[in-house]
Amino acid sequence: MRKWQAVIFDLDDTLYPEHDYVLSGFRAVSSWAETHLGIPAAQGFVELKELFDQGVRGNTFDRWLASHQMPVNGAVQELVRIYRDHAPTLTPFPEVPDLLWSLKKTHRLGLLSDGYLEVQQRKLHALRLTHYFDAIIFSDQWGRESWKPSVRPFAEILARLRTEASASIYVGDNPTKDFLGARQIGMFTIWIKRREGFYTSMQPPTANHAPDLALESLAELKAFLSSVRSEMFIEKEINQNNENAVGVTCNLPP
Ligand SMILES: [Mg+2]
Repeated sequence: MRKWQAVIFDLDDTLYPEHDYVLSGFRAVSSWAETHLGIPAAQGFVELKELFDQGVRGNTFDRWLASHQMPVNGAVQELVRIYRDHAPTLTPFPEVPDLLWSLKKTHRLGLLSDGYLEVQQRKLHALRLTHYFDAIIFSDQWGRESWKPSVRPFAEILARLRTEASASIYVGDNPTKDFLGARQIGMFTIWIKRREGFYTSMQPPTANHAPDLALESLAELKAFLSSVRSEMFIEKEINQNNENAVGVTCNLPP
């Protein structure tokens, strides 16, 4: 029986709660604002969090400054810079370190993440997960057009891991972008649908955006990878890819 050679993970909301990054950024912004704008940091943090909890996205700092009758021009760019440049305090989901430690014994492990390059690098550094991965790709290194669902970052990481697409799994949380490119290149895709996940109740926009398999947790992923069911999936995946002959050619190690 064939085994999966590589498991490649998304970062945000797959290995740690992205909500924590937002709050970490709000702390940095409110601390800066206490010194430079005279808004007490504790108050500022609560106000920013309230806006976020109300569903405000994209113009949070504009709204916040306006609520203090402060001019928005210029200050917002500075707040965005503070937010993006801050060194975050982050913790992986509790099960993640043990899972990666365990999988690393039997699989090559990859990380493939979108988002601003330096922001994502700082997140991974804060999470202290770097040493688990045999290859790490931040798609932003080739510009925004190479963010998922572009096929390019998937092709790059398969090449770096020296694995076949059909023997590799991509694990993500966002059906709008995590599975389309991975499937186009011939990978098997798994959607971790956490009960509290941001995209859990979302329908994939098209059938091609849908994952091959949905699981409720990373604990289920671990069980799946050591199951007979998993072996059946990989046989099917390889046969399908042979029929369709899609994807990139990757050199397997001897
Ligand atoms: Mg994600």
